[in-house]
Amino acid sequence: MKREEYIKTRLLDLSCYWYDIILILAAVLFLLFGILDYFVSPEKFSMFFVLRLSVAGLLLCLFLLNKLFRKLGKSKFFLYASSSLATIASAIAIEIMILALGGHKSFYYAGLNLIVICVLGFFLINLAFSAILGMSVYLVYIIPILFSGPITDRATFIANNFFFLSTMLLAIVWRSLSQKTLIKNLGLQYDLDREREHLALYSNQLENLVEERTRELNKSELMYRSLFEHANDGIMIMDTGGTILNVNNKICELHGFDRDSFIGANLTVFETEEDKALFHERMQQILDGESLLYETRHYKKNGEKITLEVSSRALEVDGNILVQAFHRDITEKKRLQSQLLHSQKMDSVGQLAGGIAHDFNNILASILGFAEIILLDEEVEEGVGRRIKQIEGAARKAAQLVSKLLSFARRADFDTYPFNINMVITDTVDMISRLIPRNIRIRKALMEPIPAVKGDPNQIEQVIMNLILNARDAMPEGGELLILTAPFELEKGAPLPLPEMAPGSYIRLSVSDTGVGISEKHLSRIFEPFFTTKAKAKGTGLGLAMVYGIVKAHKGYITVNSRPGKGTTFEIYLPVSDVSSPVRITPVVESEIGGHATILAIDDEMDILQIIEEILSRKGFQVLATEDPLRALAMYREKHASIDLVITDILMPAMNGAQLVDGIRTINPLVKVIGITGFSAGDQVRCDAVLKKPFTGSKLLSTIHEVLGAGRN
Ligand code: ADP
Ligand code: MG
Repeated sequence: MKREEYIKTRLLDLSCYWYDIILILAAVLFLLFGILDYFVSPEKFSMFFVLRLSVAGLLLCLFLLNKLFRKLGKSKFFLYASSSLATIASAIAIEIMILALGGHKSFYYAGLNLIVICVLGFFLINLAFSAILGMSVYLVYIIPILFSGPITDRATFIANNFFFLSTMLLAIVWRSLSQKTLIKNLGLQYDLDREREHLALYSNQLENLVEERTRELNKSELMYRSLFEHANDGIMIMDTGGTILNVNNKICELHGFDRDSFIGANLTVFETEEDKALFHERMQQILDGESLLYETRHYKKNGEKITLEVSSRALEVDGNILVQAFHRDITEKKRLQSQLLHSQKMDSVGQLAGGIAHDFNNILASILGFAEIILLDEEVEEGVGRRIKQIEGAARKAAQLVSKLLSFARRADFDTYPFNINMVITDTVDMISRLIPRNIRIRKALMEPIPAVKGDPNQIEQVIMNLILNARDAMPEGGELLILTAPFELEKGAPLPLPEMAPGSYIRLSVSDTGVGISEKHLSRIFEPFFTTKAKAKGTGLGLAMVYGIVKAHKGYITVNSRPGKGTTFEIYLPVSDVSSPVRITPVVESEIGGHATILAIDDEMDILQIIEEILSRKGFQVLATEDPLRALAMYREKHASIDLVITDILMPAMNGAQLVDGIRTINPLVKVIGITGFSAGDQVRCDAVLKKPFTGSKLLSTIHEVLGAGRN
C-alpha cells in the first residue's frame, strides 16, 4: 500500500470510528438537553422532547446503518451522506427550538455551536467538507431568522453571530492544524510500519543465516573433532612451556595413561633422561618457526619405553602461541630396522670371512697334502718327519679355525637329513656335562613329540655346545641354564619375531641363562667373528659367529634377548622338515685302499693337482693330470674307454666343474666323478661323491674306493 493510500484509509477508519462515537454522544446529549428545556420553557418541553426524541432516533438509526455498511465494506459516500443528514437534521431541530424561543434573541444558538464543533472536530475525512457542513449549519441558523421578522435585539443578535462565527473560525483553524499533524503522524506511522516490516524480514533472514551457520559450524566442529580423536598418530597440544593442554585418544593408547594424566602435566614427565635434556633446545627451534621432526623416547605407564617420531610446530590460536606435536610409534620399525641392519652386516662380514677362508683353505690343503706325501716317503729322516708332523698339526688347527669361519660364512659343506632335535640336545648335554660346574643347574623342557628338522645334526650339536659353553662362562657364580624346544607356527600377517622371517612351521630352540647378561653396546656385535669379551686364552670370538652361520645355513633365524645382570636368552627358529621321520645314515667303512684303475684328475691349482697325482700314483693308480678343464675334456674324449674315474675341482676359472662334468657325461653318461670343493657348491654338480677341502690322503682314497666299489656291485 502506498503512503497516500495508507493515510486516506487510516483517516477513513478513524472517521468511521469517531463518527460512531459522536452519533451516540450526540443522541444522548440531545435527550439530556431536554432538562434545559424543562427549566427554560416548561410549556414547550413536551413538544421539544418529541423533537429531541426524533433526532436522537435518527442518529441511532444512522449509527446502526453505519455498522451495517461497515460490514458490507467501508463507504466514503455513505459517510458523507450520513454525516450531512445527521448534521442538517440536528441543526434544523435546534433551529426550530431557536425560532420557538425568540429567534435572534435565543441563546439556543449555542446548540448549533456544539454541532459545528462536532462537525469540524470529528469528521476527519475532508477539511473542506467539514467546513462546508459548518457553513450549512450557520445558514440553517441565519436564513430563517432573517426571514422571520425584524431584528429587535440587535446587540444580542450581533453577539450571538460573533460567538457563532468565531467558534466556527477557531474550529476550522484548529482542525486544519490538527489535520496536518495527524497526516504527518500517520505518515510517520506508515514509515514506522514499513521499517518494522523490513526489520522483521531482516531479523527473519538473520535468524535463518545464524541457524545455517550454526549448523555448518557444528558439522565442521564434529569433523575436526573426529579427525583429532581418530587420527592414527597421537596428537598433543602444549603451551610454550611444554604443559599439555589437550591430547587425543591415540596418545593415551600409546602411553597407557588416561587423558586426565596428561592434561596439565609437562611433556618432560613422559620423556627419558636424554630427551629431557633436549627439551629447551627443541622448544626454542619450534618457537623460532621451525617445523621440527625428531625421534624421542617416552615412558609408558608400565615402565617400558617407546620410540616415537615426532613432528612438531608452533601455531597461533586466538592470539596464543600453541605447540602441536604429532607422535608416531616407531618402536617396532626401529627394532626391525636394526635387526635388518644387523643381518646385512653379518652377511657382508660373512662374505669377507668366507672369501679369505676359502683361499686359505686351498693353501692349507696344499700344506697338508705335501706334508702327507713327505711322511709317506719311508726314506725321510726321523727328525724331519717329526717337524713335518708338527707342520701338519699346525695346519690342521688352522684348518679347524678355517672350517669354523666357513661355518659362519655358510660356505661349509654338510650333509642334510631330517633328525630329532631333542635327541641331539640330550646327546650334547650328556657329552659336555662334565665341563659344566656343579653350581650350574641344567634344566631341559623338550616338547615331545617334536617335528623333525632338516639339516646336519653335527652342526646343530656345535650350535648347542657353543650356546651352553657361553652360558657357563656367563655364570661364574653359578645359576640356572634352561633349554627349551617347542613347535612354533608363524602365520601370515602375525607380528614377526624377526624382520626377514618367512611364515611357516618352525622348531623354536631357546637357551637361557641367569648370568651376567650382555650390555646394549655389545649386543649388536656378539655374532661378529673374533668379537669376544673374554681373556685371550679363553675366547676366540668365533663361537657365536659359527652358531649364526650354521643357523642361517639351515634357513633358520636366531635372536638374542639380554638384561645386564639378569641373564641372556638365545632363541633359534629352525624350519620343520617336510620329511617327517628322521633317518640315520650309516657311516662309511674305512678299509685298506689301492687299485689299478685309470683316473683323470683336474684342478687349476697345481699344488693340489700334484698332491692328488702323488698319492694316487703311490697306490698304483694310473693318473692323467691336468690343470686345464678344456684340455681335460679333450683328453677324456680321446681316452674315455680307458678312463675309470674323473676327479675334478668344482670351482675353476676357465670352465667350472659343473660344465666340465656335463661335457664329460655327454661323452659317457655312466662315468664316475668325484668333485672337490672348498664349500657346499658341490651339491649342484652331478657327482658320485664330493670331497671337502682340505682333505686327507686317506679320505681321498676311501672316497675313490667307495665310488669305484659302488660301480662294481
Ligand atoms: P667367545 O665365547 O669365544 O668369547 P662367542 O662368539 O661365543 O665368543 O661370544 C662372543 C661374546 O658374546 C662373548 O665374549 C660374550 O661377551 C658374549 N656372550 C655370548 N654368550 C653370552 C651369554 N650367554 N651371556 C653373556 N654374554 C655372552
Ligand atoms: Mg663362545
